[in-house]
Amino acid sequence: MALVNEHYLKLSNSYLFADIARKVNAFKVSHPQTRVISLGIGDVTQPLCPAVTEAMHRAVDEMSVKSTFHGYGPERGYEFLREAIVKNDYLPRGIHIDISEVFVNDGAKSDTGNIGEIVRWDNSIGVTDPVYPVYIDSNVMCGRAGTLQNGRWSNVNYLPCTAANGFVPAIPDHRVDMIYLCYPNNPTGTVLTKEQLRKWVRYALDNDTLILFDAAYEAYIHDDDIPHSIYEIKGAKKCAIEFRSYSKTAGFTGVRCGYTVVPKELTAVTLDGKQRVELNRLWDRRQSTKFNGTSYISQRAAEAIYTPEGRRQVKEVIYYYMGNAALMLESLAAMGIEVYGGRNAPYLWVKTPEGVGSWKFFEQLLYSVGVVCTPGVGFGPSGEGYVRFTAFGNREDCQEAMKRMGEWLSSGR
Ligand SMILES: *Cc1c(COP(=O)(O)O)cnc(C)c1O
Repeated sequence: MALVNEHYLKLSNSYLFADIARKVNAFKVSHPQTRVISLGIGDVTQPLCPAVTEAMHRAVDEMSVKSTFHGYGPERGYEFLREAIVKNDYLPRGIHIDISEVFVNDGAKSDTGNIGEIVRWDNSIGVTDPVYPVYIDSNVMCGRAGTLQNGRWSNVNYLPCTAANGFVPAIPDHRVDMIYLCYPNNPTGTVLTKEQLRKWVRYALDNDTLILFDAAYEAYIHDDDIPHSIYEIKGAKKCAIEFRSYSKTAGFTGVRCGYTVVPKELTAVTLDGKQRVELNRLWDRRQSTKFNGTSYISQRAAEAIYTPEGRRQVKEVIYYYMGNAALMLESLAAMGIEVYGGRNAPYLWVKTPEGVGSWKFFEQLLYSVGVVCTPGVGFGPSGEGYVRFTAFGNREDCQEAMKRMGEWLSSGR
């Protein structure tokens, strides 16, 4: 008799984006004349840049010839890519990462979801609230999150991010074993300055806390004083794992490639407190057992992002999305709406007018102007009263959505 993992039964059946899709479809059926504009998409929309597709074509050709065919690659990723990562993403910032500390993967979701396997199930965890749901759900699956009580998991420390604290979570006043930080942040679009991130590293070193730092939106950072990597902070190699992804950087959501850095200096302690163990060694063991590498074609595609043409082309697409963000920021502010983020991240965190609930405002926006957003409460209790707009759409759609919203709001809703 196979018994199920009952922790899975604690997970909510409904998935935020499935709920949204259902409501949008219902609207479309009853309003066939309205052209619905989605500002809720969390996926990129612009195609891959030419440098990337050319590299992929070359890789496909290599695969078709016996002498250049590639079968299983190294589990940590090909050296050509890991060397490009170390040389381009870290060295220019004065960070020395060895290629043995870089693990190429099929995207950051897998690794942020799987990383919990190499630490005990009963570690305490901390997450910002609102949060990227993967961090919590992956911990629910192994029992680490505890039980759900009034919309909160019993073993999760929620670190509220609100307008009152500028969406910068307060450092906990007690010890937490593992903390997930995502900056630039999804969903709030806010960032941490070097000074703010330094406090987290200090806390982690003082409390022997493991920081899981998701830098999936690093490429969207525009302001000079915002750290691109947690390793820009001294001591971070002793307390942090960093996740990067080419998904939002270069439109790789359908190609699948990213990487995780697990420094050799990073250790965790055994239960008896007698031994410190290198997490790099455990993650390597985990990956070589359960992961067989990212495709050669995807890794050649990723390598091409670091060429001069690749860099230029990728930057252009990011400029395009950030142009959308700037346009929406300006328009929403002109409408008198409180809005955050959107400067160093492709997300805008929008306060609903007059304290209307997230879902209520979602429906008002959909039914009044045919615009789709993402209800903030779907990312956690502190998201109530907010909605998320993304900058991943077309320019014309952003303009049209802002026009419709402006007219609707000035007519008194
Ligand atoms: C999109 C996203 C990722 C990237 O996921 P991939 O699996 O690399 O496509 C990681 N973290 C956050 C917070 C994201 O929004």
